[in-house]
Amino acid sequence: MSHVKLTTEKSAHLYESAKRVMPGGVTANIKYFPPYPLFMSNGAGAYLTDVDGNEYIDYLLSYGSLMLGHGHPEIADTMQSHINNHGTWLYGTPHELEITFAEKIKEHFPSIELLRYTNSGTEATLLALRFAATYTGKHKIAKFEGHYHGGYNEVLLSVDPETSDAGQKEKPNAVPSSKGISPSQTEQTIILPFNDEAAFDILKEHANEIGAVLIEPIQGGFIPAEHGFMTKLRKITEELNIVLIFDEVKTGYRITLGGAQSYYNVEPDLTALGKVIGGGFPMGVVGGKKEILMESSPIDNITSEPLNSKDVLFHSGTYNGHPMILAVGLKTIEILEEELETVLNRTEKLKTQLEALFYTKGIPMQTVGLGSVFNMVLSENEISNYRDYQESDFDTRRKIDKHLLDEGIYSKPMNRYSMSISHRDKEIEKTIAAFKNVLNSL
Ligand code: PMP
Repeated sequence: MSHVKLTTEKSAHLYESAKRVMPGGVTANIKYFPPYPLFMSNGAGAYLTDVDGNEYIDYLLSYGSLMLGHGHPEIADTMQSHINNHGTWLYGTPHELEITFAEKIKEHFPSIELLRYTNSGTEATLLALRFAATYTGKHKIAKFEGHYHGGYNEVLLSVDPETSDAGQKEKPNAVPSSKGISPSQTEQTIILPFNDEAAFDILKEHANEIGAVLIEPIQGGFIPAEHGFMTKLRKITEELNIVLIFDEVKTGYRITLGGAQSYYNVEPDLTALGKVIGGGFPMGVVGGKKEILMESSPIDNITSEPLNSKDVLFHSGTYNGHPMILAVGLKTIEILEEELETVLNRTEKLKTQLEALFYTKGIPMQTVGLGSVFNMVLSENEISNYRDYQESDFDTRRKIDKHLLDEGIYSKPMNRYSMSISHRDKEIEKTIAAFKNVLNSL
């Protein structure tokens, strides 16, 4: 691994071409970082290689989705044998794997009685909100400040608000996180403070309008909800006839096999899953209570007679339950049943070593996170919500991130670190050595 500034000329050149065909040269804004993003061309295990031939240990892992790392041979075999055995990769009809996969999910998530497939985490949370509105007849939603649930209008509020617009800590404003969000949307979505009991007063105040509370049990994948807060949220939403939706797109199969709900021992009404369950392919799931999921059934629950489509919650998607993706996702989950524990132990090891290293260098840093995901937060204060995090030392963190790329450690600047089963002791050692070089050069 190089310890001098890397040559990334080919990435720079490709970025110029990319700007001619895509706005800002990227296909998702989060993929840009200055002066230009790196273009990758190969991956193997814990490693990514860019177009200039530089090798990196990948801690982005496609925003946490590649829990097995890159190019896992059993996944490659699964795809090949699926084609060999079935001839096609898409039927556009029901197929058996839809059942097998659902049974596997139900095994790990007892709160899920029935489920539907989607093509992404975004679609999963969006569909969950429609279920909640249909079931309760209440159309406003509540979400927490700093929580991300996908890129659509209802939830693209107060994801990353400027502190100046964000309002009081106990009663945050709904601040659009994008242009193009209508002012009326900001009235439909109520923003709650995370890990703060003031949230419960807001819910009580608007109980007759709010159909759903959507929460990342672990904000941004790394700031955990407090146990007491979670238990109370469950109790209050139940009392107020508000559907509690756990967005476990990031936490599913990354904290425990049963996600954050198993860790907290709290059963939500609905769960959205994504990322890891698709094994690196686009995929999502909405699952939960039978009586809520049945809102989408095309047949009557008792008589099995077909229902009029206008009386049923609409849910569709050409690729929902894609056979090849379900095959890959199922294999991924089966591998994690054996190996998740090892990943969790290695994550603890990396966290401990990183904290010790920062300590010896006199830089306040705490790793914040549970399971196989964490972030490095440069602060001595307790981090229990978005605003605490905003007060940490972003300037130093950005400098560190920039140098880390030169040392062969890949993550998007400021992003959390995700581990995979391919990140072994050797990679941990290399990572610590890279951090040492970076901290020495600050
Ligand atoms: N919810 C959470 C908690 C997420 O982290 C993400 C993706 N980062 C989404 C929803 C959206 O998922 P996708 O990108 O698959 O649409």
